[in-house]
Parts: sequence; C-alpha cells; structure tokens
Amino acid sequence: MPLSHANRLDELTRGMTTADPAGAHIYRRLMGQAVDIASRWLETGTLFDGTQPAAQRKALSDLDVFPPQGVGDEQALADAASCFLDHALQVHHPLCIAHLHCPTTLASQLAEVLINVANQSLDSWDQSPSATFLEQHLVSALRAWTGYPDGDAGVFTSGGTQSNLMGLLLARDRYALLRWGVDVKEQGLPACAQGMVAVCSRQAHFSVQQSLSLLGLGKNAAIPVSCDRDGKMSVDDLKCTLARLASESRTPFVIVATAGTTDTGAIDPLDTLADIAQAHGLWLHVDAAWGGALLLSHRYRHRLHGLDRADSLTLDFHKQFFQTISCGAFLLRDAAHFELMRTHADYLNPPEDDRDGLPNLVTKSLQTTRRFDALKLWMSLRSIGTRQYAAMIDQCIDLAAEVAKVIDASAAFELVSCGQLTSVLLRVCTPLHAAEDRDALHRHIAQTLFEQGIANLGVTRHAGLITLKMTLLNPGTTGADINALLTSIASLAEGGLPAKS
Ligand SMILES: *Cc1c(COP(=O)(O)O)cnc(C)c1O
Repeated sequence: MPLSHANRLDELTRGMTTADPAGAHIYRRLMGQAVDIASRWLETGTLFDGTQPAAQRKALSDLDVFPPQGVGDEQALADAASCFLDHALQVHHPLCIAHLHCPTTLASQLAEVLINVANQSLDSWDQSPSATFLEQHLVSALRAWTGYPDGDAGVFTSGGTQSNLMGLLLARDRYALLRWGVDVKEQGLPACAQGMVAVCSRQAHFSVQQSLSLLGLGKNAAIPVSCDRDGKMSVDDLKCTLARLASESRTPFVIVATAGTTDTGAIDPLDTLADIAQAHGLWLHVDAAWGGALLLSHRYRHRLHGLDRADSLTLDFHKQFFQTISCGAFLLRDAAHFELMRTHADYLNPPEDDRDGLPNLVTKSLQTTRRFDALKLWMSLRSIGTRQYAAMIDQCIDLAAEVAKVIDASAAFELVSCGQLTSVLLRVCTPLHAAEDRDALHRHIAQTLFEQGIANLGVTRHAGLITLKMTLLNPGTTGADINALLTSIASLAEGGLPAKS
C-alpha cells in the first residue's frame, strides 16, 4: 500500500536546512553574508570593546530565545553579530596574551567550512567514509613525526583534557589487568585499587586530578612531585616519592610528565622519566598539550627528547599549532592497549566490520558522535608546510626569550619565570608593602588593561604571589607591541591602587 502521508517536507524546510532542494543556492548567498560580517569583524582590530557583563545580559534579555515565529536567517545572523561577535574577544590581537588561546590559521578556518557543510561523524565508517581514512592517515603521520612505531593507534579528541583522561584510563586498566588479573571495563575497580596513585609534578595540569577523580581513584590519587626553579619535575624528588609510596604500600601505576606546563612552559626531563618509568614497570603518559608544538620546530625540537618513549601522548592543536577550537589528539604507543576500552554496539561498530576492514573509529574514542577536526590540521600542514610552521613557532619562542631579557634588565619589573616555551611571568616593582596590596595591584593592572581594550594579560599565582603572565602564541606580535605594553603596565603600577570608594 502506498504511503498516504502528504509530503510537506518542502514547505517545512524551505530555506531552513541543507535538505532543502534549493539549499545550495541559499547556502551560497547566506555564507557570503556571514563571511562579510566575519571579515569586517576581523578588520576592526579592537581587542575587546569593553562591554561590561551587565550590558551583555541586558542585550540578551531583549531578544526572545523561543520566538513563536522565526526571524529568518538574515535577521538571526544580524542578531548574532550584535549580541556576540561585536563584543567578542579578538584572539588574534597581538596583545591577546592571557591564555593558551591562539590566533588561527586561515587553512583551519577554510577547513571549518568543509567540516560543517559535510557534517560527517567520525564514529563509524558509514558516517564518514572519506574522513575516517583521512584522520587515520594523519594519525599515522603524526606518529611517525613523533618517533612512534608505524601504525594508526591514535585518535582525534576535543583537546588535552580528554586526551589526558584516555591516557590515565588505559594506564589504570592495564595495571589492574597485569597486577590483579582484573578487567576493570567489565568488573569495575577491585578493592585493591584503593591504593592506586598517579605520580605527576606539582605543575601538572588540573585535568590530571580531575581524570583521577572521574576514574574512581579520587583527586588525592595525584601524588605531587616538587619542581625545580623553572617548573620542571625534580628527578630526585620523583625517586624519593616512588620509594616512599612503596614503603607505604601504595600502588603507583603511571608517571604523568608534562611537556609544557600551562603557566611557565616547563618541560619535564622526558628521557630520564622514561628510564624511571621503565625501571619501575610504570606507564608513562606525557601531556604535551602545549609543548607538542615543538615537534614542528627546527631549533627547539630537541627539548622534547624522550617524547617517543611515552606509552601515551596528549597533543593539542588548538594551542600552538594555531587550529580553531576544538582540535586535539591522543596517541598510543602500543595499539594493543586500545583493546582495554573496546566496546561494540550492534548498530554502530559490529565486530563483523573489523573483519571486513571497515574502520569504526568510535572503538578508539570516548566520544560517540565526533567532529572531523583532523581536517583542520591536515589542511594547515599542507598549506603552510613544515618549514614555515617551524618559523612561526620559533619566532614566538625567540620573542619570549627577548621579552624576558628586557624585563630582567628593567628596574620597573621583576622577571619571575621564562620557561622553554613562550610564557613570561613578571611582577611590577612597587613601594606597596603588604602582600595583599601587591596582589591587588597586579589584578588591577590586568583588569584595567582589559577594560580599556589594550591587552588581555594573564594573571596567575606563582610561589604564592599574584603574578602577571604573557603567553606569546601569536607570531604577529612584535617587540614594539610588547614595549608599548610594558610602558602601560609601568604607568599603571606607578598610579598604584585606586582609592577605595
Ligand atoms: C591546555 C592544557 C590542557 C587541557 O587541554 P584542553 O584542550 O583545554 O582540554 C591539558 N594540559 C596542558 C598542559 C594544557 O596546557
């Protein structure tokens, strides 16, 4: 019997979705408008227009979130520009240097257009027939570039947080299997897992603690090892810590090394840590979310010596690889360890597909539906080439070193730290005595610079004191930009704390 349901699809979706038969035509026109608005925004050059939270809230409350009658794409686009884009932070501004938040390659912007129009999902081959292979191909190439053995054991992730969780998950489950014969995926954590701990430096990213908490081991399972002056894990303290844990009958299962600590850009001594991990039969996970960018550097790549010995690796491309958010990867030295997390869903990745040679990448991922972010990095590498990429990264490192020198030589500032990447920590010299006044002054300086749209400067705590931070990720930032910024900082410091009203 034929279906009697009247086909109202045309009427319902006219001009609304890519399913519209005229969708391509409308898409071209609207995308042109969106690109015009976006380009004009890029051209303004304003770091931030200073709109305060109260005004932002007010502007939003004036627009109905659930309008019974839609306003149409053009009006929605105009509304988005006035509510969002016009007051957005320009992350590509030369003095947007608060966080590991990068300007983006034009190739990654182009890739976003293709990623979005195709809307593939990387969980199963039949939802991303070409994208699945491109991602695997890129993962293989990244492995080779890192010095890992041939293969495609790795997957793109939403970023460093997810990659760190994967590393700790697999390390935990491998340990439980080898030591107690327990399959944690099936049986859950055994009682003896109570004493399981991860050893990492005090400067390790907070997502390490967060992952341990999610993994049922608790935040306190992160055993902090002290750092040297530069923020690198102390090898002596690591050895003492491991000895102490053994005497307390606790069970370390992983060493988490950081290649590029978030605040100071310190790189732990990877090769030595790999020796120690090997001697103790521990998994070595390296969080190279930031420092992994040195893989592309010519002059500073040696700072990652030993990286290829990690059992698992976190890379983040939306940091110093200049990709749009999100874009990260998790690489696994030994593909067999992915078996620890393998699950099959009849509708998605049946074992029969494996036999037929159809890769369903969901098997390697914590996500199910997953964006094709790999295309961005692939296009950026093709477009820019490794030589130019290296120059962009090296230029930022050189600038940071020079800025550190200038700050160190100035009577107005104190250089707090300059690591192996591109962050510079500084304080202003001030006659203020009380530590809380000094802290307040540094906060006041950063806040004022932001409100005035001059700079987005980082504020963090180092050795107990509030400290200003520059994260120089922008290859377009010049010495002149930083000179002007230092002048503004010094003059705000001289002005002291605002009088309390
Ligand atoms: C940024 C960062 C992370 C977290 O990565 P996301 O992409 O923000 O999830 C983890 N570790 C280090 C060292 C980082 O700098």
